[in-house]
Amino acid sequence: MRRGIVLGILLALGGLVAVKAQPPAADAPKVVDVEKVNDRLYVLRGANGGGNVAVFLTASGVVVVDAKNPGWGTPILNKIKELTPKPVTTLINTHTHGDHVSGNVEFPATIDFVAQENTKVNMEKMPIFKEHNGVGLPKRTFKDKMTIGNGADQIDLYYFGRGHTNGDAWIVFPALRIVHSGDIFAGKSVPLIDEANGGSMMEMSATLMKAYNGIKNVDAIINGHTPAQTTWADLKEYADFNKDLVTWMEAALYCNWLSEQEGLPPAYEKKGETLVAVNPMTKGYRLPTDAEWEWVARYEGGGKLRRYPWGDSLPVTPRSGNYADETARLIVLDVIPDYDDGFAATAPVGKFPANNLGLQDLGGNVAEWVTDYYIVTADIGQTLVDPLGPTDGKQHVIRGASWKHSGVTDLRLSARDFGEGARNDVGFRIARYAD
Ligand SMILES: [Zn+2]
Repeated sequence: MRRGIVLGILLALGGLVAVKAQPPAADAPKVVDVEKVNDRLYVLRGANGGGNVAVFLTASGVVVVDAKNPGWGTPILNKIKELTPKPVTTLINTHTHGDHVSGNVEFPATIDFVAQENTKVNMEKMPIFKEHNGVGLPKRTFKDKMTIGNGADQIDLYYFGRGHTNGDAWIVFPALRIVHSGDIFAGKSVPLIDEANGGSMMEMSATLMKAYNGIKNVDAIINGHTPAQTTWADLKEYADFNKDLVTWMEAALYCNWLSEQEGLPPAYEKKGETLVAVNPMTKGYRLPTDAEWEWVARYEGGGKLRRYPWGDSLPVTPRSGNYADETARLIVLDVIPDYDDGFAATAPVGKFPANNLGLQDLGGNVAEWVTDYYIVTADIGQTLVDPLGPTDGKQHVIRGASWKHSGVTDLRLSARDFGEGARNDVGFRIARYAD
């Protein structure tokens, strides 16, 4: 079973973060900051510039990895002139995003432009290259691996599968024991998945592990967006973090496993390729039902139902739960203004006040799988006792807001979502009938 699963905790896990480059102020000065890694390798950063650029000096010229936001190509080239008299011969792109490739159009059209083959297809759709008659588009591509140069100048390019996009290249400088990972490992943060360009949350962890196992003799990583290098061990940790994503099926399997450990009857049984709740429900461990979740989350006593995790009206009570707050501004599109819960993404469980029934994190931190299949429910004006939801379906109900939510609709305890696959803001809590 998964490491780190503790009885009664919520697991933080799975999903999708919209990819959105910070729009740079149009007239802000473009100041390129230089980090000298060693005599042959520099990393170029700069506020609002976009992704980290690597500059590798070879015997025959300069190889550049990525070219930042629009308008940054010339400042990059000017900075390289200060570092070396050698000409730029090659520009490699890690992936298609505008904050990594837009500067391409300012590089000399005669140099070699290199990228993974899917990235070339993605880049061809970008308006900036259409506006520049294709200048800066990859001239040379590779599928899984390519080597440029040899000896001390050797550069190995790898593609290990879908992740951030469907064309994330790993650029390895073997003589220096350093790799540029682009945004498939942009930093130690929530993974960014661009589904429109073929990214895949489900394949992310496997791709990261393939890179970890497939690239040898590397010590340091130039990440897409960190202020400093990370280590090869950090990649392993990041791959493991991305593996801890829980689908509905995995949550249900975990409950059955736990029941088995304690000699309880399993709460879920196989039905075709999936699992369904045993009916009538057993005393084994299981996910709460949709109705149970709603009741424990909204219980106020006296027949009243609580509207939000913190009470019945806005604004959000300070430190009442882990929602999309000011610290999440870099990773979600909308946050609750002036709300600071202290955690950008998931928080350890139990960091926020309990509700009336003594339960924590129902309306925040991670949203939660429940047992029921999802259907659009019509109010039939009838009181149901312990309903189990529809007997068939394709997707399961997800309850409760998460660290990604800021809208009043999402924050309501009555809000429902649905899905099946892992998301990085969906976990689960377990329940079972007391004896
Ligand atoms: Zn990116």
